[in-house]
Amino acid sequence: KLKTIARRADLKSYVERTPQLNRLLRQAASRYITGNFRQDGIEVGRKLVAKGYAISIEYIGENTTDATECEAIVAEMKALIIDLGQAGISARVSFDLSHIGLSLHQELAFSNLMKLAEQVQGTGLELFISMEESSKTDDILSVYKQAVSVYPNVGITLQAHLTRTPQDLASLPSPSRIRIVKGAYQESSDYSISRSPELNHRYLELVESAIRQGQRVSIASHDEVIINEVLERGWLSDSKVEIEMLYGIRPELASRMQNIGHPVRIYLPYGHEWYLYLCHRIAEFPPNLYQAVIDMVGN
Ligand code: FAD
Repeated sequence: KLKTIARRADLKSYVERTPQLNRLLRQAASRYITGNFRQDGIEVGRKLVAKGYAISIEYIGENTTDATECEAIVAEMKALIIDLGQAGISARVSFDLSHIGLSLHQELAFSNLMKLAEQVQGTGLELFISMEESSKTDDILSVYKQAVSVYPNVGITLQAHLTRTPQDLASLPSPSRIRIVKGAYQESSDYSISRSPELNHRYLELVESAIRQGQRVSIASHDEVIINEVLERGWLSDSKVEIEMLYGIRPELASRMQNIGHPVRIYLPYGHEWYLYLCHRIAEFPPNLYQAVIDMVGN
């Protein structure tokens, strides 16, 4: 609900039009976002890579409804791919398909994805598709499956909270690159499982199935219950399995894991659409609202 309220266009535009509020919220967002520009993400990435982490990087955005804007976003992502290559950073470039055209036409998202996939050929980079609201799951999986049949270095995110996900996982080609998340969107209880031990059980079952299928798996969670179970089961000794966490969330847990030699990837967002990204982080973990207030007051 919090996210739905925050995403209302009138509230977003109020934030944009009110400089003091905008500045304070931007300050709170800086805990989770590397900066406005790709060089900010690359710079943070360079430091993390030097410490032994792998990185993902995202030019934040979603639901683009203008074709010209989609072109500009694809151009930015191509520039990101070139700059990462020049910096010698072997990253995973993550994005929402709705950022590059899915909200207009599935074909537009597919053709833009193919342009990006062409660009990453031979660079050692990966392209990684995020998963959005369940109304888009079929389209996202369809675009992914078409793309990965041509370009194997494209990966996909699956949400454990949707009851359909075990079937979706079984339908993926092998080997695929899969990120498993709990799910950040509010969905109907008719076809989703809310945060609970049952969801954790489902999450671990999905990870286990994906590993058995021989997939490359990113366990994208900050939940210590999940992570302790992953350690207990020895899954991280498989070189195709890693932990992935969002920048600014549980950094001490990420560093503890990395210090004991486990592969950890940090997800680095950058860009001007920080407001919605901040809303996502607060909605998935409401105590972050207090953290946001502390960040605003403290600065
Ligand atoms: P939760 O049960 O939500 O939280 C467990 C514990 O983790 C909490 O008690 C708290 O200690 C800590 N924690 C969790 N979230 C936060 C937070 N925001 N701030 C501070 N502490 C927190 N979702 C999608 O729907 N689609 C995607 O494509 C997608 N991509 C993602 C990519 C990555 C790399 C990651 C890490 C997450 C992604 N998510 C995505 C978000 C995901 O679905 C969850 O909403 C998010 O990871 C929180 O779930 P959790 O597994 O950490 O466990």
